Order: sequence, then C-alpha cells, then structure tokens
Amino acid sequence: MKIGCECGSTIFDYCNVPQKGHLIPDQKWDDVFDAVEDEVIAPLSTSKISEEDAYTKSRHIISEESRLMWQCIDCGRLYIDDLNGELQCYVPASDVTSKQILRGRESST
Ligand SMILES: [Zn+2]
Repeated sequence: MKIGCECGSTIFDYCNVPQKGHLIPDQKWDDVFDAVEDEVIAPLSTSKISEEDAYTKSRHIISEESRLMWQCIDCGRLYIDDLNGELQCYVPASDVTSKQILRGRESST
C-alpha cells in the first residue's frame, strides 16, 4: 500500500520504518494490558497454553485494538486510520513541527 500525500510525496507502507506507527487509544490501553495478563501471561504461567499460542494471542490482542498511522517525511502530515478504516489527514501546526514524530527511540543495546 502507498499513500499519495497532499504535498505530492508518496508514503510507502513498509514494515519497521520510522514514518509508520500503531495507535492504541487510551480508552483501550488498560484493556490491552488486562487481556495480555489474563489471556496470555496467566495461562502460560500455568501451562494452560503453549508458548507459541502465547505469542499468537498477545500479537492478536495488541493488533486488534491498534490502528495504523503514517507520517509524510516531506511535509509532516499525519495519516491515521479512523474506526472505519478510513484514512484521516492531520496537518502540522507549523514548519518546526516534527516530521519524525513516529520514529522510535534508538536502542541502547
Ligand atoms: Zn506530504
């Protein structure tokens, strides 16, 4: 998938790139942690599910509540999937607004 930004640039949807992020609404934040604890950690610790099932379940729980977002590195516009999967565009407030807001911290290891 690629997004044609309103500035004329193209945002490519590759995995693990600094212009892509995953949004979990705060309304679902605790639900995600509770589900991981109740449906993954507790059953795994008592051997009710396998390690492989735990990986699959935890990824499913997190993915189910998250939506994708991308940022144009040229103009900084944010594109976020809404609840219906429709792409919504948000424009930076000024020229000094970060164009790397979705970049992850550098690993210290
Ligand atoms: Zn742009």
